[in-house]
Amino acid sequence: MLYNYHTHTTRCRHAKDSERQYIETAIKAGTKVLGFSDHVPVAGFPEGYYSGFRMTPEELPDYVETLKALKKEYKQQIEILIGFEMEYYPAYFEETLQLLAPYDYDYLILGQHRLHREWDDLEQVCTMAPTPLRLTQYVEQVVEGMKTGVFSYLAHPDMLCFEEGDEDGRRLMEKICITANEMNMPLEYNLLGARAKRRYPTERFFRLAAEHNCSIILGCDAHSAKPLFDPKTEQEAYEFLARCGVTNITDQIRLRK
Ligand SMILES: [Zn+2]
Ligand SMILES: [Zn+2]
Repeated sequence: MLYNYHTHTTRCRHAKDSERQYIETAIKAGTKVLGFSDHVPVAGFPEGYYSGFRMTPEELPDYVETLKALKKEYKQQIEILIGFEMEYYPAYFEETLQLLAPYDYDYLILGQHRLHREWDDLEQVCTMAPTPLRLTQYVEQVVEGMKTGVFSYLAHPDMLCFEEGDEDGRRLMEKICITANEMNMPLEYNLLGARAKRRYPTERFFRLAAEHNCSIILGCDAHSAKPLFDPKTEQEAYEFLARCGVTNITDQIRLRK
């Protein structure tokens, strides 16, 4: 991939390999821009609640400093960007942005892995059933997050998706496409979902996105170094998107500065 903005590190506790291994693999793959976007630390969770799939606030300085040093070291070979993948939890949104504010980071991507405030709704979005109630909550939370204007793109928009033939669900998800266009935000084709044969990306969502001529971006969602060099999955992504009628594909995102 020439550009990839969706990369994790071991701080999220479900990834492996060092940042250096990710970078070396990306260089071999001919990547020009490698953006790290590990799961953001959330500020303000209740005392005693531990979110098991993200770095803690205490790990934040090391994340940024490690990447800053590597960015400098590798600057002749590859551009390293520093970002975060973040849910939109209205209750912790401002506080989390304040936690990040002292750090020099390049972008945020929106990835809604849980609903409500997380600790009060532990069901994972990636496996929950797309009931009308769940789908409505998901779309409302994601659309509200998109409208804050702080996110550069929406990761795995169809992690929860309407079923084939569910017209109401389709109309709901349409709001994500409309908002993406309003906010000039690309929607991600998630290569991890494709590689791992998860239930997303879905053709039905990307056909809908194509109808709205939404801008689509490929995201590796690497949780180890190897997927950063995977031309086969990338090729399949382009074929999938072509089948869905997607013509508007981008590799550029808005950076904070
Ligand atoms: Zn992850
Ligand atoms: Zn994600």
